[in-house]
Amino acid sequence: MHDSEPDSTSHFLRQFSDSEESSELFSPSPSGYVRGRTRFVVVVGTVMSGLGKGIFASSLAKLMQDKGLSVAPMKMEGYLNIDSGTLNPYRHGEVFVLEDGLETDMDLGTYERILNQNLSRKNFITAGQIYTEILERERRGGYLGRDVQMIPHVTGVVKMKLRELAMNGPNGQQFDVIFVEVGGTAGDYENSFYIEALRELAFEEGDGSTCFVALTYILEPSILGEQKSKAAQLGMKRLMEAGIQPHIIACRAKNPVTPKVTQKISMFSNVPLKRVFSMHDRESIYVIPDAMRAAGLDREILSILGLHERVNAGIEDSARSAWSAFARRLSAPRDHKITIGISGKYAALRDAYASIDKAIEHCGVELCADIDVRWLDTSDVTTAVCAKDLLEGADAIIVPGGFGSRGVEGKIRCVEHARTRRIPFLGICLGFQVAVIEYARNVLGLADANSSEFDPTTGTVIISELPDQKRIEGIMGGTMRLGAQDVLITPGSLASFLFGQSKTVHERFRHRYEVDPAFVGRLEAGGLIFSGRHPKHPIMQVLELPVSTHPYFIGGQFHPELLSRPLKPHPMFMGLIAAAIAQREPAFAQSALGQRWVRANTATASSSNRS
Ligand code: GLN
Repeated sequence: MHDSEPDSTSHFLRQFSDSEESSELFSPSPSGYVRGRTRFVVVVGTVMSGLGKGIFASSLAKLMQDKGLSVAPMKMEGYLNIDSGTLNPYRHGEVFVLEDGLETDMDLGTYERILNQNLSRKNFITAGQIYTEILERERRGGYLGRDVQMIPHVTGVVKMKLRELAMNGPNGQQFDVIFVEVGGTAGDYENSFYIEALRELAFEEGDGSTCFVALTYILEPSILGEQKSKAAQLGMKRLMEAGIQPHIIACRAKNPVTPKVTQKISMFSNVPLKRVFSMHDRESIYVIPDAMRAAGLDREILSILGLHERVNAGIEDSARSAWSAFARRLSAPRDHKITIGISGKYAALRDAYASIDKAIEHCGVELCADIDVRWLDTSDVTTAVCAKDLLEGADAIIVPGGFGSRGVEGKIRCVEHARTRRIPFLGICLGFQVAVIEYARNVLGLADANSSEFDPTTGTVIISELPDQKRIEGIMGGTMRLGAQDVLITPGSLASFLFGQSKTVHERFRHRYEVDPAFVGRLEAGGLIFSGRHPKHPIMQVLELPVSTHPYFIGGQFHPELLSRPLKPHPMFMGLIAAAIAQREPAFAQSALGQRWVRANTATASSSNRS
């Protein structure tokens, strides 16, 4: 019924809705959209936030993707911000930048990594975006004299966004399944219109089109020593009051959920026992897809949505085994051990650097290295001696991205320490910029070299906003360069070695300031190499030192961490960690992995040959 002929409800709505906006059944769809063709899995949290809805939804989406189904996630935020660009990483975690430049919530990073899929602004909506669209349309007279209402207009836009996303499947087809994650918890004021829109969507798309999953929490108070289901039951009631009968209940809990609790939940929520799942804490998020599969969650979803026929069993085995092998290697003993020091203003909060954390994790598995990550607050680092103390024992150093002047002098000291002590170094965005400043100050002797972001009054502005530069690129006013851009790589460079001799790579940017081209000649004459540049404009995007002078010193004006994936770690992180291992264990450089990732110091080799 779904693929060819929409059911009678959908047909009825189509007749009236598309042309007649004054109808109470106003429910727009993009042209060519076939109702019921795309299925929706909606994940709503109850009891409390922070249960890992994103990890849950992405793991489930991954299971379906591995069955050959085309999937896409949609994250719905209840806040009024248009995007996450203005959110404080201390409070909300890192700002994740998509290919098209949208600044989003860190959950989108989880989806990209787990699904190995690039997302776009179509996969992320906020209440701010929805209201802006409606209010702008209202001012243009777009509602033909009607009063503009939460229902049907606001909910209509939400449904439209979901359907627009559904239209973007592979080969011009609609996606098989959209995974919708509603931010917040059932009962929140901010997300109630999303929940209403999804209720309407399920009705309009027809029976079997939508599967509601309630992610709930089972309390286990230590004073009682047993699991209690009451909070979960109350949370479920909230959802049912909104007209949503969940099809599946996933119970987050510290320990496996007991049969007594599962029975109670089933009984109070009209959900059969076989559709109540224990999603207790696991040793790593990567084992969740396998755990879901073992519990039969994937089969239940396929049955609820009538999708068994679309499964391609042929690809499932290889996709699953690649993932399971990664999860196994993650918990297996490691051959190497290194420590990475990461200097950062937000060192107090690991979520603020979630993608860096993940990129390191991906490399650790690939290189079989146990990596101890040390987050260092550089605000108190004022001298080279302080930097040495702070970085004592670090086998590699990362200076990550950031904004504002706090802690910057300390970061410059950390770069100096890494450069002069020949400790493998990776500078990311702001880390790239401070590496340029450090070089200008300590090698070229430009003592007052700085960025206009940190000291607008400095005499030697080596990093600046360069408005003319931006105008050429079509970037407005004080806004940032955002999103993916090509980077031209110099043949023969360390970057070229890392990127497998690619001439051009594609990386994601989020910055306002850049190296002033007027200084490039002097910096290069002084020994710094700019091995990655904008294909057309004089924008410096990768810097490095020759391997003859430093085992691994590289920086990117972009954010390599955003593109690292579990089965495809980013080369700049791989190079960093491999170089750190090789410093500790010289024999590593001769191994197959070492030869791929540690660049031999040919200058030393040829000079020793001569002697
Ligand atoms: N603050 C710097 C800039 O705006 C670096 C930005 C970043 O690290 N993301 O250019």
